[in-house]
Amino acid sequence: MKIERMARKNILKIASYIPGKSIEEVQKEYGAKQWVKLASNENVLGPSPKAIEAVRKELSKIHLYPEGPCSILRQAISQKLSLPEKRVVISNGADNLILMIACAFVNEGDEVIMADPTFSVYANVTQIMGGKPVRVKLKECTHDLEGMLKRVNRKTKLVFVCNPNNPTGTTVSRDSFHSFLSELPDRVIVILDEAYGEFVEDPYNPDGLDYVGKKQVILLRTFSKVYGLAGLRIGYALGREDLIHCLYQVRDPFPVHRLAQAAAVAALNDEKHAIRSIQMVYEGRRYLYQELDRIGLSYVPSQANFIFINFERDSEEVFRGLLAEGIIIRPGKTWGYPTFGRVTIGRRVDNYRFIKAVKKIIR
Ligand SMILES: *Cc1c(COP(=O)(O)O)cnc(C)c1O
Repeated sequence: MKIERMARKNILKIASYIPGKSIEEVQKEYGAKQWVKLASNENVLGPSPKAIEAVRKELSKIHLYPEGPCSILRQAISQKLSLPEKRVVISNGADNLILMIACAFVNEGDEVIMADPTFSVYANVTQIMGGKPVRVKLKECTHDLEGMLKRVNRKTKLVFVCNPNNPTGTTVSRDSFHSFLSELPDRVIVILDEAYGEFVEDPYNPDGLDYVGKKQVILLRTFSKVYGLAGLRIGYALGREDLIHCLYQVRDPFPVHRLAQAAAVAALNDEKHAIRSIQMVYEGRRYLYQELDRIGLSYVPSQANFIFINFERDSEEVFRGLLAEGIIIRPGKTWGYPTFGRVTIGRRVDNYRFIKAVKKIIR
């Protein structure tokens, strides 16, 4: 029998997620001696040393199943954020939580509103469930919340707001988000993805926590970015008890392994490492703006740990030129911006190397 008739109707048409290139993938082809990956917005400082120590201690227990609900971490998060534990659900990365949200809420034919461009996983999970992604173009590189509101109809189930947005690094204002929420029918759930929330400097940014429990908002956060644990896969969602309960209904019994749980508890308690990482991003942002201004390249001012830069030429060429210098970035073609590239902010040496290489390539 043809596979098209065996698989669920929609899944063979889904465009697969294109991840940033790993160092292992490119180092054979390109001869650079030193590599830095600025392609996936990981913490270039690495994990907290306390997280590494916690993993080491946990290693001898990996023959035992992990604790299913991640109670210790859930307690730590709920205390830190002053939220009841029932409003917290933890899983193996925000990506997996996004899939769980689709599993819990999207029926065949439902519509899911999202920005264009934004994080591609939102559209993927919608299609997996047989829903229809409704894409609303960014306005001045920012979510067009009014435009998104206009697309709401009886079929609308979810609205994704990525704040700061990946790949542009832009945020919505507190006022615009507030009026957006107040005009939205309360049967439509808003997913506020704050994967990069810790890096925001803009004081007019909405704080998702203000809405948890009060509105139909599910907040997404992750240990992959500022906490430097992308390789362990762990993130969490916050929201009203009835919404979070639905996510528990579709959750795997043991989605988060022991090492990730132990590392996340340690990372959450290592404020110093988090602050150092945020400080590095603040400094790096200013340095990169200054240097890009000097070179004469435009960029979207960012509230995240990456910058969306217009190289004003095919960015695949810039991408390959940078690979020859041992630097991996993410070219913008996947988002429909073929002259742009998304570059993670690194340490001072990384940013310096990047700028030096860009100058050489575009000259
Ligand atoms: C990185 C990222 C995530 C995924 O986080 P994981 O916890 O690593 O799955 C979610 N949303 C956005 C916008 C991201 O950029």
